[in-house]
Formats: sequence, structure tokens, C-alpha cells
Amino acid sequence: VLRLEAVRKTYGRGTVVLRDVDLEVAPHTVTALIGASGSGKSTLLRCANLLEEIDDGAIFLDGEEITDPRADADAVRRRIGVVFQAYNLFPHMTVLDNITLAPRRVHGVARDEAEARAHALLERLGLGGRADAYPDRLSGGQQQRVALVRALACRPRLLLLDEITAALDPELVGEVLGVVRELKEEGMTMVLATHEMGFARDVADQVCFLDAGVIRERGTPEELFGAPREARTRQFLERVV
Ligand code: ATP
Ligand code: MG
Repeated sequence: VLRLEAVRKTYGRGTVVLRDVDLEVAPHTVTALIGASGSGKSTLLRCANLLEEIDDGAIFLDGEEITDPRADADAVRRRIGVVFQAYNLFPHMTVLDNITLAPRRVHGVARDEAEARAHALLERLGLGGRADAYPDRLSGGQQQRVALVRALACRPRLLLLDEITAALDPELVGEVLGVVRELKEEGMTMVLATHEMGFARDVADQVCFLDAGVIRERGTPEELFGAPREARTRQFLERVV
């Protein structure tokens, strides 16, 4: 679904944030990006969604080079759903309007159809009956689930999730991770940056350890968490687990 080839990203003059990053995301799999703060996880996700321009290398979505200057960035973004850490929802709009905005405005879906889809998704993610609420009347966990519904409402090919539980109280983290687990079971392809090692271990097919902009080590959760090969990976895991 997604492939990065020798991606290099620098900020300003010379700060290299990603160097020679190769990554292959197969259909219906979950890739977890782990690594210390500042290692480049968010930057990688932002590059994949063309929110940042890369300096070198190439990124492919379904075989099409999206970093080609002639590629249609808006069309690419329509195929990728993104959820960030927090403050995802428009506060002045109801849950239903938040969810149906992009399908209607960007994808040209008729209101009835967009609302029917939204209600079905809300029901599925345990938010039935919340359609008319404003975001500030929902818990943080519910807000993040609505943000996931909003991303799914555009029927993306790929979901990019950046620390979607980082701003939540610990007791709310579980419900959001549960939704990600369900989406995986339904076959959604996802790339997520996370500091929740237990979750990465549980849900990911592939785990990549980023260290100063380099994918230092990658493997299955069993390989990476169970028998890390690199000293840097072991040091990181000892610190965070
Ligand atoms: P965290 O776990 O804290 O979210 P991260 O792995 O997501 O960290 P990034 O946000 O990708 O890390 O940042 C990687 C590096 O790029 C950091 O050194 C950061 O300071 C730098 N950086 C990020 N955004 C910018 C920007 N807009 N301008 C300049 N430097 C930036
Ligand atoms: Mg980040």
C-alpha cells in the first residue's frame, strides 16, 4: 500500500530528520513506529501524507509515486486518513457535522448518504446516540473515537495515526486502542507512531525502531521486543518498558 524509498528529510539548513528511510507497508497490516522523542516518527507520517516535502527519495501509494512533482497532492490526501494526538475536532460543529464535512465537501457525497455512513460508523465504534453532541461534551476517549470515525468516513486506503492516545487519561487509552484493534481485524492498513509499547507489541505486524531519523531496527513484535539485535534498540526498550 505504502512504500518509502531512501527518504531523506531536512529542516532548515542541515538538520537531517530522516535519513535513507526505507519502509514497506503491506495491505491489511499494522506498522508501529517507536523511538525516542525527536527520532522522526511524526515527520515520517507527515511526509507520507505530503504535509512535508521530502528532500530526496520517493514515496509510493498503491504503486504510484506521490512525491512526483506532477502528482495531485489533494487526491493523494483524499486516500489517506490521518488522526493526530489531540484537538482533532472542530469545536463549533456537532459530532455529525465533524464527520460528514469532508465526505460532503471534499468527496462530493450527498448529505443523506454521508449522514447514513456517519451513523453506521458511530454505532460501530460505540458512539451511537452521540451524533448531535458538541465535542466539548465528550470525554477525551470519545473525542478520539469520533476523530477516528471522521477519518474512516472518507473510506481511506491507509490510516496514519500519530500518538492518538498521548493526550488521554490512562483510563481512556484502552477504549481508543480497542478501536484500532477492531479496525485491524476489519483489514484496515495502518501506520502508527506510539509510545505505548504494550500496544505496539499487541497490534503491530511490523515494528520499526527509529533512532535519530534512521530505522535502526525492524521486525515482528516478537523479534523486536523479544530479541532486539541492536544495542540502541535494547537501550531504548530498557528505558521505556
Ligand atoms: P515525539 O515522540 O516527541 O512525537 P517524533 O519522533 O515524532 O517525536 P518529530 O516530531 O518527527 O519526532 O521530530 C524529529 C525532529 O525534527 C526533532 O529534532 C524536531 O525538533 C525536528 N522538527 C520537527 N518539526 C520541525 C519543524 N517544523 N521545523 C524544524 N524542525 C522540526
Ligand atoms: Mg511525534
